Amino acid sequence: MSSPKPQPTSKAIITATAVIDSQALLANYQQIKSLAPNSKILAVLKANGYGHGLARIAKLLANSLLIEENSVDAFGVARLDEALLLRTAGIVQPIVLLEGVFNQADLPVVAANNLHVVIHDKEQLNDLLNITPAKLLNKKIKIWLKIDTGMHRLGIASNDFDKCYQQLQLSINVDNPLTLMTHLACADDQKNGTTSKQLALFEQLTNQCNEPKSCANSAGICAWSTSHYDWVRPGLMLYGVSPLLNADNESSNSAQALSIKPVMTLQASIIALRQVNAGESVGYGASWTSDKKTTIGVIAIGYGDGYPRHAQNGTPVLVNGRIVPLVGRVSMDMITVDLGIQSTDNIGDITTLWGKGLPVEVIAKHASTIPYELLCNIKSRVQIILN
Ligand SMILES: *Cc1c(COP(=O)(O)O)cnc(C)c1O
Repeated sequence: MSSPKPQPTSKAIITATAVIDSQALLANYQQIKSLAPNSKILAVLKANGYGHGLARIAKLLANSLLIEENSVDAFGVARLDEALLLRTAGIVQPIVLLEGVFNQADLPVVAANNLHVVIHDKEQLNDLLNITPAKLLNKKIKIWLKIDTGMHRLGIASNDFDKCYQQLQLSINVDNPLTLMTHLACADDQKNGTTSKQLALFEQLTNQCNEPKSCANSAGICAWSTSHYDWVRPGLMLYGVSPLLNADNESSNSAQALSIKPVMTLQASIIALRQVNAGESVGYGASWTSDKKTTIGVIAIGYGDGYPRHAQNGTPVLVNGRIVPLVGRVSMDMITVDLGIQSTDNIGDITTLWGKGLPVEVIAKHASTIPYELLCNIKSRVQIILN
């Protein structure tokens, strides 16, 4: 191995940093509104706001003058702790616990904090029906009744719907009207027949009910206008990422075609440069060997920041306006890229791992995963810059 070229060292180096584009977030919100103009929006923030920061994203959406009525209609989270964190952060909008509560003892906490709860099975239903109003401090709770229309994960069976619906309507613990909901299993695939079947069953079960209804996640919003109903529940597309299959190229399924923009741009600097000759290997396990003389750049991000360890050789990285390939194994704190023999890149140059100019959908494909997993894997040591 030859010794490294002398490099200017005056540039400030940044380690893994996620730049959060608040304008993009609000533009995506507007785009959702224009795709589903007659629906209210429940913004889904679970898993730390898909890695973007739970309270950070909630505050941006809760207080924006750019949003009609200056605020989002409601937020959705998966866990009670997430909802309480939002209340502590000063969020006053309705918050829906998308999986409901897991213990009857949590219901008084829900009532005290004005949370809405999903009821998805008979245990949760009975917990609510059987608790004495005094334990809830005589408060009624807003309920979203979830029906299983074919995903077979959460939701009461369609046969049980009528009975559960009536019991809830009559319960003194319920703040009527209910919201009726279901979740779509295959909405990301426009060719999959499951969605039409789910929507037909939902319609058949609920068409006599006057309550508000909700079916659509991001993919439903983009691809199934008959799923919109009264409330849409966008997660991924709020963050500017396409929820549809095969979104990693310039097809009509891409984020660009859907007119949404990435909210997170993940960046880090080059911290070292070296030349390798043909036949020399790079990184742990010597899993990549150069077939030519070239310049290797070492970038200050690794799986300890949430960059996927399974990203293959050839995964694109954006360096000074061009795409270069990841080479060698992803380490905890570093990755290595092939900058080419002509490289004029310097230590300190900021590279983009995903976001503006390099969709996370593309990186997910190279790492055999989905954008959801990459975003919510962002680790706490990653610096966040709010733009
Ligand atoms: C996570 C979740 C969503 C949002 O899904 P996206 O695909 O991210 O839009 C909507 N509804 C429910 C019930 C969820 O759990």
